Amino acid sequence: MTSTMEWIRRHYGVPARHGMRITYDGKPATIVGAGNAGLRLRVDGERRIVPTHPCWRIVYPPVPEPARPRGWCAHCGTDRAMTKDGVMGKHHQHGRSWGTYSSTTWSKPCPGVGKPPTHRVINQTHPGEQKDISA
Ligand SMILES: [Zn+2]
Repeated sequence: MTSTMEWIRRHYGVPARHGMRITYDGKPATIVGAGNAGLRLRVDGERRIVPTHPCWRIVYPPVPEPARPRGWCAHCGTDRAMTKDGVMGKHHQHGRSWGTYSSTTWSKPCPGVGKPPTHRVINQTHPGEQKDISA
C-alpha cells in the first residue's frame, strides 16, 4: 500500500513530504497534504489551502545524496536502497491484518529484493522551470 504523497514522489521525482517547507511562487509555504495527484499547501500568513501540481512554481529544499543510490521497488512501490549491482537491496513489506477484536502487524521479505527498480529515486529541487503564463 502506498500513500498519495509517495505516489507523487515516485511519479514526479520530487522530495515532497507532509510538513515540508518549500517555496511556492516565490513565497515560503508548507506542504499540508496530497490528493488527486496534486499537493495541497499553505503559504505563510494565509489561511487558504492551495491545491497545486507538484511541479508547478514549487522549489523544494535540496536533499543530500544518499550513501547508496535508491530505487523504487517494482514489487512494493517503496523507496529503498539499491545494491552496488543496481538491484533492490534487502527490505521488508509491512502490513496489518484485522482480527475480530484487534489487529496485528506483519512483516515479510519483499519479493522485489534482488530485482531492478522501476527507476532511480531522484529529488528535484526545481521540477517545474515552466514558462510564466501568469502575464
Ligand atoms: Zn519491495
